[in-house]
Amino acid sequence: MDGRTRETIKAIAGPGNFLEDPEDLAVYTYDATPLPGKTPALVVLPTSSAMLAAIMKVASESAVPVIPRGAASGLAGGFVPAAGGALVVDMHHMNQIIEIDKANMTVTAQAGVVTQALQDAVNRAGLLYPPDPASMAISTIGGNIATNAGGPRGVKYGNTLQYVLGLEVVLADGRILKTGSKCIKQASGYNLTRLFVGSEGTLGIITQAILRLVPLPQAKQTLLVVFGKVAAAAQAVSDIIARGILPASIELMDRKLVNLLEQYIATGFPLDAEAILVIEADGDPDSLAKTIVAIERICADNAAVSVKAAQSDEEADRFWEARRMAFAICSRARPNCLVEDVTVPRASFPQIIEKIQQISEDNQVTTVLLAHAGDGNTHPMILTDVSDAEEMRRVNIVLEKIALEGLKLGGTLSGEHGIGTQKMLWMEQEHSPVGIDVMKAIKRALDPQGILNPGKLWGRAADADAAGGEEQA
Ligand SMILES: Cc1cc2nc3c(=O)[nH]c(=O)nc-3n(C[C@H](O)[C@H](O)[C@H](O)COP(=O)(O)OP(=O)(O)OC[C@H]3O[C@@H](n4cnc5c(N)ncnc54)[C@H](O)[C@@H]3O)c2cc1C
Repeated sequence: MDGRTRETIKAIAGPGNFLEDPEDLAVYTYDATPLPGKTPALVVLPTSSAMLAAIMKVASESAVPVIPRGAASGLAGGFVPAAGGALVVDMHHMNQIIEIDKANMTVTAQAGVVTQALQDAVNRAGLLYPPDPASMAISTIGGNIATNAGGPRGVKYGNTLQYVLGLEVVLADGRILKTGSKCIKQASGYNLTRLFVGSEGTLGIITQAILRLVPLPQAKQTLLVVFGKVAAAAQAVSDIIARGILPASIELMDRKLVNLLEQYIATGFPLDAEAILVIEADGDPDSLAKTIVAIERICADNAAVSVKAAQSDEEADRFWEARRMAFAICSRARPNCLVEDVTVPRASFPQIIEKIQQISEDNQVTTVLLAHAGDGNTHPMILTDVSDAEEMRRVNIVLEKIALEGLKLGGTLSGEHGIGTQKMLWMEQEHSPVGIDVMKAIKRALDPQGILNPGKLWGRAADADAAGGEEQA
């Protein structure tokens, strides 16, 4: 970034809305993925879409790479700057919930609103915003939309995509695009709203969103189910779905994970269980009671050792709190924890779980099993040390084999974390050369200079620097 561009952008942002000291910039070189990133040249924290639009006009005139950032809680390196000399756009100063519209069951919020703050606000209004990433205490709505985040409730309620009705986006050249509306049905031309969901900052910077809400469930019940074998737990999940039962959440954890969790939070999970399922069902009290009985029966048919219903909201909260801590606690077990996100059609869940265990064992890599099991979304967590080259050679083999096994089963590389740089090597195998060509054509149409988050989604990280503001390879 040349001096004139830098000074012009700083002048537009104004005091308090930019960072340029080396110790501040260092914070903007990473996200929650243990991947090295380049130091940006400047960070701006816009306070309005108009301010961001003016900044983007200057950035595009000078072909400066621009990387949008929410809370940098991403697990695929989506934020991690791959291009040097970039402008980082941190959305935290755009953190207003503009309107909760109870009559239309929508909330309109700026992109920098923290997910939990939005959840709490709509709950107070008697409504529910279902997407519940375990990171919701820090992640932003903009980051959730840009990655199509999910969470345990995805089994019944789906990912963020299902809740985005409209967006405001600042495009690469500084124009402001408004898509969608509060209508819950929209069939008016290309669905531009959906195009930006999961676009990982490569097509535009999301500044505001209209999100769909649902009624708060009347009742819910959490079950803790213990199994003597991981395969039996995985089969029980598959059977629950195959019988047309749709709990809100079904989370699988293996013995290694339960033991790590219990060292830090005494939740009361049994230490000798090979696998546990934490299941939450919700709905009206009558149908909920029937659902619980049906789930208990299927678990018993799959040799469950025990089924325990949480006796109070506090006990259920303890189970879910432990589940949400899984990544943080695994990160303490070894220097690094890499989280995979391969997702398969639900009936193939038992097969992918078996493959993950086999591949890890064959390559002597420590993998802890966690999964949003009810929607086929696995989160094997690889405990490793990225500074150990020999171990990383084996870890990379495991990551690749898991990704490719998932694709063989008709799955996808990512159910909710996105591609970033972590999974871009296998994108062509998932989407075919034609699919990648179409994605690149869309990218060229919206960002002809390739300045938005270069080096992500496809190609090699090394291409980003070469791009330096030009189109991605
Ligand atoms: C402990 C932990 C638990 C997690 N659990 C889950 C989980 O259950 N489910 C899940 O889906 N994810 C989970 N994640 C991953 C992560 O929290 C999500 O991917 C989240 O959506 C990222 O939000 P963020 O605001 O931190 O975005 P960032 O990490 O800052 O950015 C993510 C991507 O979005 C882009 N981006 C950010 N804001 C914007 C914007 N306004 N406009 C355009 N592009 C933008 C960035 O450039 C980047 O490519 C977890 C992470 C951690 C650390």
